[in-house]
Amino acid sequence: MTDCLSPSQLVEFQRCGEAWRRRHLEEDFVPPGIAAVTGRSVRETALACLRRRQQGETPGPEETADLAADAYRRGLARGVHLAPEELSCAPALLGKGRDNAVSLALLFRRALLPALSPLLVEEKVELDLALPLPVRVTLDCCTATGEVHAFSSASRRWNPEKAHGAPGPALWPAALDKAAGIRPARMVFNVLIAAGTPALQRVETTRHAGDLAPVLRQFRLMIASINAGIFPPAAPESWHCSPRWCGYFYSCPHIPAARKALSPAFSARSSLF
Ligand code: SF4
Repeated sequence: MTDCLSPSQLVEFQRCGEAWRRRHLEEDFVPPGIAAVTGRSVRETALACLRRRQQGETPGPEETADLAADAYRRGLARGVHLAPEELSCAPALLGKGRDNAVSLALLFRRALLPALSPLLVEEKVELDLALPLPVRVTLDCCTATGEVHAFSSASRRWNPEKAHGAPGPALWPAALDKAAGIRPARMVFNVLIAAGTPALQRVETTRHAGDLAPVLRQFRLMIASINAGIFPPAAPESWHCSPRWCGYFYSCPHIPAARKALSPAFSARSSLF
């Protein structure tokens, strides 16, 4: 059973309660897809570079590329989920994932790192919000002037509504207050985009005091649903309810056998790489 909640768990639950149940209650881990392994490698590298900045050092391009390639290799060693249509070109796709991880990490180093003087890096803050469980908030980076930066990777530009509707920023003020006793001056999602020439998209968002209540209501609904044993499945036509994006697809009771039979299951480890 999970011992705390988080904004990302709330998003996961809202996307598919059944997938949340498998992962967080049954602890049935399925490997992430290539894009997720790439994204995690870039984030891991960005955070490592920011920690170095805290010590007054800036990793060079070669070191940054090595950090990203190593993080990607470690990610693959933990396992990767491949969709049926990816099987025939798996080695090429895994190689492209590594190249994307390296080029996005280099973009981060070039376009973002020089402007950031981090006070906090990957700060995990547990908040008591009068819910049955505490809520753990992770602040990717906060500068001494109160800028809060989150880092993501994507294959295309974000619709800004994604940032404006995300539950995390509503909790960032309380987390930053608890961690450093300051209020956010700016809240920015930095999206590193891997399509064609790597690009950086900055999406600034704002939250007001009244924006916390709707997020707490969503957490309460999530908890009530869990306590009642109700785990709503994703909409069957949604992009993430597919063999490509969901590792539970072939064992999911909500997917008809005929749909599962359309393509065979496969899950690979880094031996393919
Ligand atoms: S297959 Fe669809 S309903 Fe089942 S766990 Fe995955 S996303 Fe949820």
